[in-house]
Amino acid sequence: MNLVRIGEFAWTAMEPAEGTFTLDWLHTVVGKLQKEKINVLLCTPTAAPPIWLTRTYPETLAVRRGGQRVAHGSRRHYCPTNATFRRHSARVTEKLATEFAPYDNVIAWQLDNELGPECTFCFCNDCSAAFRRWCRDRYVTLDALNAAWQTRFWSMDFTEWDQVGLGIMPHANYGGDGFSGRNGYPSIEFDIRRFFSDTFVDFAAHQTQILRRLHPGSMVGTNMMGPLFQSIDYYKMAELFDYVADDLYFDLGTMSVDVLAMDVFRGMAPPKPFWITETGSAGLTHQKGPYPKQLRAWAFSALAHGCKAHIFFRWRTCLAGHEQDLQGILEHSGLPSYRYRAVKDLFTELAALEKPLASLPLPAPEVAFINSFESVIAYDTTVIGRSVRYMPHHCETHQHFFDRNVQVDYIPPGRDLSPYKLVVLPTICLVTDDLARRLRAFVNAGGVVLATPQLATRDANNNYVPRVAPDGLQDVFGLHVDSHNYLENACEADQTLATPVQTMVAETPAVQCLQGPSGLCERYMEDLVLTTASPLAVYRDNLYASRPAAAVNPFGHGEAFYLGAFLDKTLTGHIIDLALTRAGVKQGPRTDPWVEVLTVGDFTVAINHSRTTTRVTMPTGKPLVGEVKDGVTTLEAYDVCVVKRKYKENPS
Ligand SMILES: [Zn+2]
Repeated sequence: MNLVRIGEFAWTAMEPAEGTFTLDWLHTVVGKLQKEKINVLLCTPTAAPPIWLTRTYPETLAVRRGGQRVAHGSRRHYCPTNATFRRHSARVTEKLATEFAPYDNVIAWQLDNELGPECTFCFCNDCSAAFRRWCRDRYVTLDALNAAWQTRFWSMDFTEWDQVGLGIMPHANYGGDGFSGRNGYPSIEFDIRRFFSDTFVDFAAHQTQILRRLHPGSMVGTNMMGPLFQSIDYYKMAELFDYVADDLYFDLGTMSVDVLAMDVFRGMAPPKPFWITETGSAGLTHQKGPYPKQLRAWAFSALAHGCKAHIFFRWRTCLAGHEQDLQGILEHSGLPSYRYRAVKDLFTELAALEKPLASLPLPAPEVAFINSFESVIAYDTTVIGRSVRYMPHHCETHQHFFDRNVQVDYIPPGRDLSPYKLVVLPTICLVTDDLARRLRAFVNAGGVVLATPQLATRDANNNYVPRVAPDGLQDVFGLHVDSHNYLENACEADQTLATPVQTMVAETPAVQCLQGPSGLCERYMEDLVLTTASPLAVYRDNLYASRPAAAVNPFGHGEAFYLGAFLDKTLTGHIIDLALTRAGVKQGPRTDPWVEVLTVGDFTVAINHSRTTTRVTMPTGKPLVGEVKDGVTTLEAYDVCVVKRKYKENPS
């Protein structure tokens, strides 16, 4: 162990009354760690404002949609724009930075904790006024705002600026739930979500500036959440920081979703390092905890995917409070058990490998997924059409690459595409002119793109564009979308439109690849009109029977693949194989399910994430971890093998 993360939520212990600081305990702990040469990631405690603060200044408490102020308690019950809260947040941050900057082992800061709306976004008068200012800055005139939001629908036109605020869309009016933001007016809700994102980024900037001023040279960041967070544009927030961190509990998703999270955070702001600030040594909630070897498999996967810090949460299991059953490394008794031994063994092994693995580079994939925060919130604020399921669609598409041992990067829409051979666009409904221009240039120069439905269908304000899709990219894909249908709630003869959606029948039209497998599509389908593209698959039945469901188009020196429906795993896999081949991306070795093989620089890392024994062919070289016999490593449950090619015994 060489780093301890401490202090998040500890505001009362640090400042039991306004202006009275009790930091002796923290000095004792940080001093002890300094003596043991253990570094500290010190957290500001602002995610848990104390009761003296919220009682003295009730205006610091967040307000739910509809006007109800939240009660004190739990965590993140504060308003992020409230000036009084900002003042106290600044005060406690300044005090901590002043007192602890002199310690040479305090190397990094984590501000707040998992920023974002935990009990609610705040709809108080301060936030409402801030939203009005945000809109004025953005649109300048009411005419521009009305045009951007297309307020003619339902006579929502605004005639005075003081009519604009967060209270304009009380969720109870039409079907919203007050949190998810699906309130019936996607363009307005979309800007509300962009405003909240900017608000949290601004809150983070406020503390970051203080820490930089009072502790220059330290690293500043915060613990984020993934894989695809829907409340804050992390790409904007990461610009503030020195490291990018995810709280990644490997047992919450499948292994490919965990890898997706690592691909996202590694690519958040390179070359800033990617850390895992929280991971569990036990089951996070009610599931059985991992086997000790499984913890090790996860850690090696993180290492190979570019993670530079692997921090467990928490040291000792809490005796009380909401997380009293969230097991730490030590038991409730404070005594070590198998988890302590597993973590100790893991860190001992990693420490011994520090030198042999020192030259392990970051992965350099040839495939990139575009990750568009605005497309995330576009789907998250859409009432009709939410069945597109943005996040699961990303996860299922990413898994195809995980299954093929093809590494991918996740990049924001503005990032350079030139390092890649294949760019994947999973339901990127918002395509800016800049992205369209760069996609065109990328394909023209020989790149391959693979898009899934609803590409370039909406404008910068989450309204549909009054043109056929994919808007601005029809010539690149050699097609346009003639019409579309959602498939989840088809009425049977004995049903009416008033029938609960859950009891309606989801239709799954049959799809046949022209030179490949047959299967089904689900949730949504488009009718494609091909101009220069060639069909790859056609609908065999249902509304679009015999019409194209997927196509490929040569454009310049490259090719553009388009899937007009959410195709099943077999069909999608077939088309991904075609796209990889056309792009010249070599697939990794075919392995048993949940067996990962990554080649990173001169290193090949093979990890068996399953409990079934498997064999993997390894390259010639020096095995640094595990054994290789006749070029093959046998991996029992959760085993790891690392081979380095071009190994020198004594590298100079
Ligand atoms: Zn507020």
